[in-house]
Amino acid sequence: MEAKIELWICLIIKCKEDKLKILDGKYISSVIRSEIKTEVERNSPARPHLCAILIGDNGASRTYVNAKVKACEEVGFKSTLLHYDDISELDLLKKIEEINNDKNIDGLIVQLPLPKHIDENKITLAVKPAKDVDGFHPVNMGKMMLGLDSMIPATPAGIIELIKRYKIETLGKKCVVVGRSNIVGLPISVLLGKNKYPGNCTVTLTHSKSKNLKEICASADILIVALGVANFIKSDMVKKNCVIIDVGISRVKSDKTKSGWKLLGDVDFENVKDKCDYITPVPGGVGPMTIAMLLANTLKAAKKENKF
Ligand code: NDP
Repeated sequence: MEAKIELWICLIIKCKEDKLKILDGKYISSVIRSEIKTEVERNSPARPHLCAILIGDNGASRTYVNAKVKACEEVGFKSTLLHYDDISELDLLKKIEEINNDKNIDGLIVQLPLPKHIDENKITLAVKPAKDVDGFHPVNMGKMMLGLDSMIPATPAGIIELIKRYKIETLGKKCVVVGRSNIVGLPISVLLGKNKYPGNCTVTLTHSKSKNLKEICASADILIVALGVANFIKSDMVKKNCVIIDVGISRVKSDKTKSGWKLLGDVDFENVKDKCDYITPVPGGVGPMTIAMLLANTLKAAKKENKF
């Protein structure tokens, strides 16, 4: 009897979700993680190994790194977390070199942002491209631009995977990207302009100096938003029946949650959701997909080392 009631509740929730057309990153990422886990189990005892470096005590960074380490454990990867309260740029470069040469480590991430005394570009360049599972190294970025096999940065890779798994049509669509960062906006605009699926979009990349942003956004069939300003995209900035991918994550105070905080995306979800065909929620949209694609990149790195 209880099982029947549970089934009915699941069906009712599912129907509601279908109506809302949520791009459920949490669910899709769990599917990807279980696919990865199966592959790891099949190749046991070999296990991909991800090393994460965290510097300082930024709460958000610690949360992100911990989530990545936990995800590794869940799929059967080895993980090593190197946490430094502080470290000099030279010592960090030496550590990265050591990891680059360590045959037991397949992937390396250095959690950003870094303290001011460390040059982010120097660190990005120091990570061996084959172990650069964040896909930030210029070799990987360049290969991605040229459409060659590379490590695609995890967040854009997650967006592409979400579009693929929901079979969203992209050919000939007008795609507007808000935000031009090297880790999200720029790479996703390149990927969706490629001559393949998902791709073949006519892409407009916008930023803080863009004029007529409201009109540009309202012309998008696919709107990808990554600027980091909570609820920035309002209902009058979106076209009816468009697809919205909200990358932004802002932590804002709330008296409705136990912790006193809640996460908001860059899109005013409640007022926009009924206007579009598909939308990603925050949390539960792009965030979990980013972690899933980081795992996929680590598995790929391990395969290149012929461990799999
Ligand atoms: P950055 O701060 O590096 O870049 C922000 C971009 O937004 C810049 O290009 C900036 O323009 C643009 N921008 C800022 N204000 C405006 C405005 N008013 N109008 C138009 N454009 C504007 O951000 P990230 O790309 O690193 O991150 C963006 C958001 O996504 C953040 O909330 C971050 O936390 C989140 N994020 C989420 C991830 C996930 O897994 N879900 C992963 C990575 C990021 P300009 O270049 O002119 O300064």
